Amino acid sequence: MKIFAADIGGTSIKICVTDENGNIVFFKEVETESKKGGPSIFKKLEDIISEYPEIDAISISTAGQVNSEEGYIIYANDNIPNYTGTRIKDRLETKFNVHVKVENDVNAAALGEKFYGVGKQYGDFLFLTFGTGIGGAIVIDSKLHRGDTGTAGEFGHMNHYPNGIHCGCGKRGCYEQYGSTTALVREAKKVNPNCTNGRQLLEMIQGGDKRLFEVFDTWTNEVAIGIASLIHIFNPPCVILGGGIMEQDMSIKLVSEKVHQHIMDSYSDVKILKSQFGNKAGLYGAISLHKFS
Ligand SMILES: [Zn+2]
Repeated sequence: MKIFAADIGGTSIKICVTDENGNIVFFKEVETESKKGGPSIFKKLEDIISEYPEIDAISISTAGQVNSEEGYIIYANDNIPNYTGTRIKDRLETKFNVHVKVENDVNAAALGEKFYGVGKQYGDFLFLTFGTGIGGAIVIDSKLHRGDTGTAGEFGHMNHYPNGIHCGCGKRGCYEQYGSTTALVREAKKVNPNCTNGRQLLEMIQGGDKRLFEVFDTWTNEVAIGIASLIHIFNPPCVILGGGIMEQDMSIKLVSEKVHQHIMDSYSDVKILKSQFGNKAGLYGAISLHKFS
């Protein structure tokens, strides 16, 4: 089955096409231009798919809360205006006359790790991705745990500090206000206003900036506290961490050390692993929707 897969994020849309066996034979990345809104993104997606008339199926991994049964966007925040309610599956199936599957991007990334990556050997694991916010996915018995309304795994909105910093969700003190890359950069700017993103921060630390290292070290502790709570709840054999900031071995090492300081001894076998596919995990997961379900 030749599959067209797309991973729609706030910054870019990653696209690939597979051969009959599901191996990626073509990959490209285009800007999402997310501020133009959902209808514009959908039109762009349709135009790209039209370039591949020989495909047998379409898989979409996308930002936002997704009803994967019916293939529509339950809710998308202001990063992609007017995207909520977009009926991706119905519209693409009508236009292209092939089977379409749609999944939330973090869930898709977890499936990518499960079927092709570092999660392959585990029936159960948790997946967290660190970026603008913190996304989460729960894999139990080799399947996604979706919850009652399909939105389980919103780890970024666990209450981390009662009455803490306001969050985009309308609540206060959410985990992602302290553990996301956005939160890390916010704190880094207080000691070095020249630091504007995670990659730059890590370069400055490697260049010997001790004050920024302290900020980073404190941030890894915030990250670890959240993960430790999840380990106590789910008792997983491993937790996989994704997002650009976690591609650095230093991040995984520090987070892992601190997680082990915060968990009870009976959980100490848990492994903290780096995502194998980084920002392509969602595409692999999108492909798996047709190959393994
Ligand atoms: Zn929140």
